[in-house]
Amino acid sequence: MGSWGNLRYDPPSRQRRLFDRAAPLPASAVPLLAWGNGRSYGDVCINSGGELLETGGLDRYLAFDATTGVLRAEAGVLLDDIIRSFLPRGWFLPVTPGTRFITLGGALANDVHGKNHHVAGTFGNHVARFELLRSDGARLECSPTQNVELYAATVGGLGLTGLVTWVELQLRRVAGPAIAVENRRFHGLDEFFALNAAAEKSHEHVVAWIDCLAATPRGILMAGNHADGVPPAPTFSPAVPFTPPFSLINHASLAAFNAAYFHRPLPARQTLHLLPYFYPLDNIRQWNRIYGRRGFYQYQCAVPQAVQQDATAELLAAIRASGQGSFLAVLKTFGDIASPGLLSYPLPGANLALDFPNGGAATLELFGRLDAIVREAGGRLYPAKDARMPGALFRQGYPRWQEFSNHIDPRFSSSFWRRITET
Ligand SMILES: Cc1cc2nc3c(=O)[nH]c(=O)nc-3n(C[C@H](O)[C@H](O)[C@H](O)COP(=O)(O)OP(=O)(O)OC[C@H]3O[C@@H](n4cnc5c(N)ncnc54)[C@H](O)[C@@H]3O)c2cc1C
Repeated sequence: MGSWGNLRYDPPSRQRRLFDRAAPLPASAVPLLAWGNGRSYGDVCINSGGELLETGGLDRYLAFDATTGVLRAEAGVLLDDIIRSFLPRGWFLPVTPGTRFITLGGALANDVHGKNHHVAGTFGNHVARFELLRSDGARLECSPTQNVELYAATVGGLGLTGLVTWVELQLRRVAGPAIAVENRRFHGLDEFFALNAAAEKSHEHVVAWIDCLAATPRGILMAGNHADGVPPAPTFSPAVPFTPPFSLINHASLAAFNAAYFHRPLPARQTLHLLPYFYPLDNIRQWNRIYGRRGFYQYQCAVPQAVQQDATAELLAAIRASGQGSFLAVLKTFGDIASPGLLSYPLPGANLALDFPNGGAATLELFGRLDAIVREAGGRLYPAKDARMPGALFRQGYPRWQEFSNHIDPRFSSSFWRRITET
């Protein structure tokens, strides 16, 4: 059990076991950590030398109110399960990240966001309550009115406050599986920010793909609204069958891909099944293998609104100058709906996410330059995607981290937490 970036962590977790809903937390001499489905890119779901508690056995629905759309389900249930069960009944997730193969517990612990942050906030904004199992055996129901401090610490709390056993989530009513999408090419960040601001007024879901190697940043803005109709569901493509010894992504293949992708014939308007719109990568199983045995990093940062355009331009210029990066580059803006968690990532401003093959020292040097831009801008990096941010940058970006640490379960820890508090 590792994480999505396929990076190596030494030593590996000492032990892992399937968490049993009927049993107390194991009496272990090493630190514990819940593991959802390992879709985090770095070490928030890694516990080197410690024990991982796999939550896949927590797979039951506990209650559903078909009138209100309130679902109570165990924390190992996948978003994919919820879509399969409830989309045919006219309900969808209120907030969803770019993969549906994550658990409810993982969604809560990273307080994930989607393309609708400007109107819906984070996942935690739609969680009415959950149960937290602490290592002293206490099972605490947490909500905005009950065990309030543990509620705020656990939403976005990186699995450190204990193990979440179930989550109560408000689903969103939809007409069906269709989404009406408007695609717009943009040239330059002025045009991106203008189009994006207009699209956020008329569309619930807004996101842009960006060509990180173009001299003037360019890309495609994709704005969607749920719609009537039943477009054909996608069929699964085959999985990437094995991990090649080296990354299949290099500068030449990337520049060619980006240019072709940018110029491909693109309808201005189309109605799609919502699966390929929300989860374009889920269709290629194990796509993370294309980066080879050394794995890959994602650099995801948010910078405040007041400086969002300048800081984004600087970040993209530094990436372009390095000749690194990949076609998986996403730009979107977060709105100002406050997140419920002490460590929730989104802040009002721009959010940039790019994948990078692990090129060793050259990649880490580039990240050092990007960190300096983020620090100067007063921004932060996303722990769910991180495997290397310096502790000082975390502490600057998350000023409530000390208040948060008062709520960590004494028997829980993670490689991420040790890394950012000990460096
Ligand atoms: C292709 C792709 C696209 C993505 N797009 C987005 C996106 O658009 N927005 C976004 O926000 N994220 C995105 N992510 C990141 C992903 O949504 C998060 O990393 C998510 O938290 C992973 O959930 P998981 O169930 O795999 O949990 P894991 O990665 O296994 O664990 C994540 C954290 O949750 C904790 N945890 C898991 N279960 C429990 C539990 N029961 N109790 C307590 N703690 C628990 C773990 O300890 C760990 O700290 C994307 C990831 C991928 C691979």
